[in-house]
Amino acid sequence: MFKKVHNNLALWYKENGRHDLPWRNIDDAYKIWVSEVMLQQTQVKTVLERFYFPFLETFPTLQDLALASEDEVLKKWEGLGYYTRARNLHKTAKLSKESLPLTVTELISMPGIGQSTAHAIAAFAYKTPVPILDANVKRILYRIFAVTKASDKELWKMAYAFFDEKRPYDFNQAMMDIGSIICISKIPKCQECPFEDTCKGKYDPLLYPQKKIKKARPLRKKNIIIHFYKNKLALQQRQSRFLNGLWGFSEYNQHEDINFTELLGEITHIYSHFKLHARVHLYHSYIDEHQWYSLEEIKELALSTADHKVLQLYLQKISFKV
Ligand code: SF4
Repeated sequence: MFKKVHNNLALWYKENGRHDLPWRNIDDAYKIWVSEVMLQQTQVKTVLERFYFPFLETFPTLQDLALASEDEVLKKWEGLGYYTRARNLHKTAKLSKESLPLTVTELISMPGIGQSTAHAIAAFAYKTPVPILDANVKRILYRIFAVTKASDKELWKMAYAFFDEKRPYDFNQAMMDIGSIICISKIPKCQECPFEDTCKGKYDPLLYPQKKIKKARPLRKKNIIIHFYKNKLALQQRQSRFLNGLWGFSEYNQHEDINFTELLGEITHIYSHFKLHARVHLYHSYIDEHQWYSLEEIKELALSTADHKVLQLYLQKISFKV
């Protein structure tokens, strides 16, 4: 049914595909898995420029990752956000021992590996003839079939219906490229698209999929205090689900009384589900239930981006004094 479209896609991929991406044309399941997990919430350019190579330099193999501490893994993930991904990578590495599982079903049983990631690992590392279904591929399918809404089950059905079983590997790679270069979210380049003849959504692609109404992120106002004592700063390792395992300074809601502190400035940071606005204070005092670190030692800890902004205010303050 899609023979001509598949031929067009194969031709397009040969001439325009991003064949030089480091996780392409390799069969190392570990490296492919790391790239897939990083790319879930982050653009290719950022992953390539800042994260993929340093992570693999520190943890070149699955065994290296399994033997690392969670602190080391989080430190290497610092700045990528969505830290559950890093913790699950680590858990799966520890469970896997020698190598990642070889089938989609076994892959899905591992922490943090859903159907989409399992298919991507199986398709790219083991050349299993299964379609992939990341956010980019979903968008293409919505548009090709002119569907405004679909459940995951329906999307998988569309993915299988559209799949090129004769050239599964190139098909999947090409779909990823079309999704990130051509059928992009805001201004799809239909005239350059190998699906132009077939695509039912090309007359008004932005209708597909139907946009979700975005709720405004709630604002959380906090006071953050840097406790300073004998040339060390107090930090706590977060035990909460949010930012679990990362180190941070003491946070208080803004209605709580904060006395005898020196205001260093303010920071804002946007998380996926709220916006943080915090006043940052310096407090020369000892505090229990925290651990104390010098600036040199803090460099070794994994901090969230917001806590790095807090630390930056402190560094500005001391450099001003010097
Ligand atoms: S023709 Fe346009 S809308 Fe359809 S898949 Fe290609 S880029 Fe997307």
